[in-house]
Amino acid sequence: MIKLSLNMKTSLKSILIAVVGVWSAAAWSAETGKLPKLVDLGADKCIPCKAMAPILKDLKAEYAGRMDVEFIDVWKTPDAGKAYKIKLIPTQIFFDASRKERFRHEGFYGKEDILGKWKELGVDLKAKAPAGIVRETPVAADTRARDSVCYMCDEDVNPKTKTVVKGQSEQRVLCGPHCYFIYLSSIVGADPKAEETKVSVPDWASGNLVAAAGASYVYGMDAKGRATVKAFADKDAATKEQQSSGGNVVSWDVLRGKELATRCAFCDRAVYPEDACGVKFGTTRGYGCCTHCSMGVAARLKQDIEVEAKDGQTGEVIRVKTLDGQIASVEPATAIAWFGQKKGPDGKWGSAGCFKQGFFVNEANLQKWLEARPAMTGRQITIAQALADKMKLSPEQIAKACKLGECK
Ligand SMILES: [Zn+2]
Ligand SMILES: [Zn+2]
Repeated sequence: MIKLSLNMKTSLKSILIAVVGVWSAAAWSAETGKLPKLVDLGADKCIPCKAMAPILKDLKAEYAGRMDVEFIDVWKTPDAGKAYKIKLIPTQIFFDASRKERFRHEGFYGKEDILGKWKELGVDLKAKAPAGIVRETPVAADTRARDSVCYMCDEDVNPKTKTVVKGQSEQRVLCGPHCYFIYLSSIVGADPKAEETKVSVPDWASGNLVAAAGASYVYGMDAKGRATVKAFADKDAATKEQQSSGGNVVSWDVLRGKELATRCAFCDRAVYPEDACGVKFGTTRGYGCCTHCSMGVAARLKQDIEVEAKDGQTGEVIRVKTLDGQIASVEPATAIAWFGQKKGPDGKWGSAGCFKQGFFVNEANLQKWLEARPAMTGRQITIAQALADKMKLSPEQIAKACKLGECK
């Protein structure tokens, strides 16, 4: 070990004294992380510090998700180390999950000694990471009228595109034809012809509900490249609209073909690629309708996959690779998942459906996303957990995944 104040080489002395000089009484501000943490303060040119490097590397890999391991080079980054007020390098400092300092050791410290110390401190490194954000009751109840909320995606329904499916006893309201086709692809063994006799759409010109199968549709694109669908009872009116706003005039049959052309590679629901997660398996590129479905592709196909998801709040890209049904890598490493759940009448928690799931590059983004969704319930999980939840499904369960009344 190297003493900072005495017995050191002159060449180091000046650097270290300079460092000591700025090591004021400034308190170390606690981090937001909730895992136990081992901080090793050293320098890459100090011999015992060098011997610590492979040990830290091992601990970091073996205890990922259960302990944070940080190395601070106090010569290269004196500011980063100053608040720890160390006297020697290397120094290892043990923080528990509340980030309270529990122990510090000066000099070289072997791997078994480090693990033994954690045990002695009563810190169980085998325990799973804390659950993170849990919201079992809504912050505010959803008071929107039922016929103004989409049955599938839970978004507000625009009266201009409100699509109505009449059932035996009740009717279901969808925000537009797109959500209708997601609904259709969520019905086990659905017969599209039989289903569509129940569907009405509002005529864009008059607002009156008309049979969906008999209407003409102006199929266009908005500024973000997402499809827009306007229904017209009168084909001439549709042509007129198409002449002024662009797009194509299509029949219901053509619209159905377009809408059902791209499907979730896990649950088979209709998706728009712009809304979906990209999933690569082998040389094939497919889609997952939500972040959790994208993990399910590894389970359904029993293949290694590469997923490109977007942060639910900011749209930042999150990349996940799997290997033999386990996570091989997550970028950025801080990324986490939200498992949207709701409590059933039996008191059991179940998935709240594909539209309530998401990945986030960090907990802060999830927090912001939740603030904007006060009625949302569920819990934060790791991306590894999102994958594990899918990997444990049987082929029979996968066949029913995300189907209406079957969401698991
Ligand atoms: Zn919808
Ligand atoms: Zn899906």
